[in-house]
Amino acid sequence: MKKKYDYLLVGAGLFNAVFAHFAAKAGKRCFVVEKRNHIGGNLHCEEIEGIHVHQYGAHIFHTSNREVWTFVNSFVEMNRFTNAPMAQYKGEMYNLPFNMNTFSRMWGIRTPEEAEAILAEQRRVISGEPRNLEEQAIRLVGTDIYTKLIKGYTEKQWGRDCRELPAFIIKRLPVRLTYDNNYFNDRYQGIPEGGYNVLIEALFGDCERVLGVDYLSHRGELDQQAEQVIYTGPIDAYFDYRLGSLSYRSLRFETEVLNLPNWQGNAVVNYTEREVPWTRIIEHKHFEFGRQEKTVITREYPQDWEPGMEPYYPVNDEKNQALYAAYRKLGEAERVIFGGRLGEYRYYDMDKVIERAMECAKACGLKRGTL
Ligand SMILES: Cc1cc2nc3c(=O)[nH]c(=O)nc-3n(C[C@H](O)[C@H](O)[C@H](O)COP(=O)(O)OP(=O)(O)OC[C@H]3O[C@@H](n4cnc5c(N)ncnc54)[C@H](O)[C@@H]3O)c2cc1C
Repeated sequence: MKKKYDYLLVGAGLFNAVFAHFAAKAGKRCFVVEKRNHIGGNLHCEEIEGIHVHQYGAHIFHTSNREVWTFVNSFVEMNRFTNAPMAQYKGEMYNLPFNMNTFSRMWGIRTPEEAEAILAEQRRVISGEPRNLEEQAIRLVGTDIYTKLIKGYTEKQWGRDCRELPAFIIKRLPVRLTYDNNYFNDRYQGIPEGGYNVLIEALFGDCERVLGVDYLSHRGELDQQAEQVIYTGPIDAYFDYRLGSLSYRSLRFETEVLNLPNWQGNAVVNYTEREVPWTRIIEHKHFEFGRQEKTVITREYPQDWEPGMEPYYPVNDEKNQALYAAYRKLGEAERVIFGGRLGEYRYYDMDKVIERAMECAKACGLKRGTL
């Protein structure tokens, strides 16, 4: 007998939002089960003092894929926000990514030629194969940039001294010899006008939603209602951790409302000295050029992850990749599609998650077109 729904979507993040859109367009019936009390996954914004606060960390949309950009803009207009983060080191302010503005501020120089000469001289400090992350970073950007802008930040992120971290963690450190503070190299970037919730609402449309329910606690009854399950929760949780737990890095956020209109003058400021415990402060109103009377800031602290905590970044080392491969193998025997950043145990930027969800919709016969 045909079941009530064609698709049961586990998790109301961006992956399933995109999938839901194509399913509805193809006339399929879906319902989404989300364990949090809101849709949108990590893109969700909470409104405080009229400001859209990125509750799970700063999200800036960027892509070079024209189809993805056109798709997103068909639901919500993207504003002209360009990510140009600042770094603060012991009260000194530097532009990121490392570019001529950074070098000029650091060394009082003017031309790319002067910058190149200083970089080359400082890189020479390390000869031979770098033995750890410190040597690798100095090899790539020299001692000053490493000491002021990389060392403390990286040590806070990993909770370890850079000399104890392997060199391979940093493969490239792009250096720009132009006065260009745009963090991303992608063709398109912006923030949805009105915040990410507008985009997510539009994508889910009329899709039925059940919030505050953990699929894994009601799996039997939920599975009976749909022909196909699309699961975007953690893959190890799906199998009740029977082969062990995958590791993540986590974050802790402290949000504060300040009674002034503009506190740091930029959406993102990184704190690159070790002594300051947070890695960055986000001032949310600047994502949308807000003119509100108050402002909302969030301090971001990296954290070791333990089961039960919010899993933010997968640790794609050999051990965890092997474990993920074993879970994937188990997954092949299920009639379930695993998708998204947790289902595939992979860091995906939003545009890549949209691409993956479009591919999935296409494989299910719901979408036509180039992807
Ligand atoms: C700190 C941070 C900053 C980021 N910044 C950017 C950025 O600037 N630009 C960019 O492009 N990308 C950014 N990303 C990536 C972006 O967040 C992801 O691409 C996107 O959230 C992936 O969507 P998803 O649907 O795969 O996962 P998620 O958003 O995690 O959605 C999965 C959903 O499934 C739910 N769920 C899990 N298990 C269950 C269960 N058992 N039952 C019911 N529901 C369940 C979860 O609660 C969650 O809502 C960032 C990520 C992080 C962590």
